[in-house]
Amino acid sequence: MTDDEAAPETRLIHTRTGRLDRVTVNPPLERASTVLFRDEAGLYGAKPTYGRMGLTVHRELEAAMGELEGAAHTRLASNGLQACALAIAACVSSGGHLLFTDSAYGPTARFCERRLKAMGIEAERFDPRDTADLERRLRPETQAIFLESPGSLTFEIADLPAIAAICKARRIRIICDNTWGAGLHHQPLALGADISVQALTKYVVGHADAFAGAVMTRNGGLAAKIAAVSEDWGIGLAPDDAYLALRGLRTLHTRLKAHEAAGLEMAQWLSARPEVADVLHPALPTSPDHALWTRDFTGSNGLFGVVLKPVPEGGMERFFEALSLFGLGFSWGGFESLVIPCDQQLTRMKGSWTEQRSGPLLRFHIGLEAVRDLKADLDTAFAAMSA
Ligand SMILES: *Cc1c(COP(=O)(O)O)cnc(C)c1O
Repeated sequence: MTDDEAAPETRLIHTRTGRLDRVTVNPPLERASTVLFRDEAGLYGAKPTYGRMGLTVHRELEAAMGELEGAAHTRLASNGLQACALAIAACVSSGGHLLFTDSAYGPTARFCERRLKAMGIEAERFDPRDTADLERRLRPETQAIFLESPGSLTFEIADLPAIAAICKARRIRIICDNTWGAGLHHQPLALGADISVQALTKYVVGHADAFAGAVMTRNGGLAAKIAAVSEDWGIGLAPDDAYLALRGLRTLHTRLKAHEAAGLEMAQWLSARPEVADVLHPALPTSPDHALWTRDFTGSNGLFGVVLKPVPEGGMERFFEALSLFGLGFSWGGFESLVIPCDQQLTRMKGSWTEQRSGPLLRFHIGLEAVRDLKADLDTAFAAMSA
């Protein structure tokens, strides 16, 4: 059987660079700044010459991420935000213009609006559900489009193939944050994106204990630009975190399937609750994004949003107070269930549909606990909210 014929879960377990003459299942973890050479010629010859460029574990993780995303080139970063910044910076230059989705991860939006501005690049939002809106905002100096699909907190899906068709003729680069799809359930590069980015911190690491990011592309010229920005900014990934990301990757398929099944069950259960106005989950047939999700994704996961009906005075405080299994905390993709209130961090364009919400927006991450226990936890919390 060739590698191409094997199922994704098989390939995730068996990707190796082939350079290792290995006696252990996992690669050796080298904690190193200095790399030693036998002679002077070696110092300026062989790579890597310095630990910042990564060593054995990094090369293995790059190969595995490339396999996962269908990419020829992978560059690692110390976290997901840095990976997003790296990808964007490789596609824009002073005097240029970038369009980014209105539902981008908050710190990515902040990078666009604050850091790019300081670099002489104009960043502008567009409505992820309205490709015509994006097209109207294109300018002669537009250099790149930043997508995140589904978007953070509100889970809108952008029509990537349609956007790619518009951008191709104009030589505009498309970057897609693929953290939700995790590479297994969405393949932006196959659908026309030039760069796919992931916060490995989420499902790839999978255990809420390390940060990592990755930038993937099929385009050699673009890969060289990404490498140059990464070198100039001194971007790297700590070996221990690279090791944890690679270890997480080996079980990603199994974990993601479990998160997906539990996530769907909880999303459906929440849809039927009297306190809930809407569940924002593209795999639900009631979602306005369901048709695009069905066409462009092969699965979902445990992360979705919930819009509540108007909540009685003090109800949210009582809801969070009553929870015992769901943790209150940022990030997601680990084995544990989490919930956060989102209203405080939601920044959207004027006229966004989010302005017409009936009540507070929550984001749930469904972990690997028994669904029965999670429902009981929420039952208690909803009862406290209404009391
Ligand atoms: C968490 C997240 C990031 C940032 O990743 P960090 O590793 O926390 O810096 C970027 N994009 C998305 C969609 C995320 O959820």
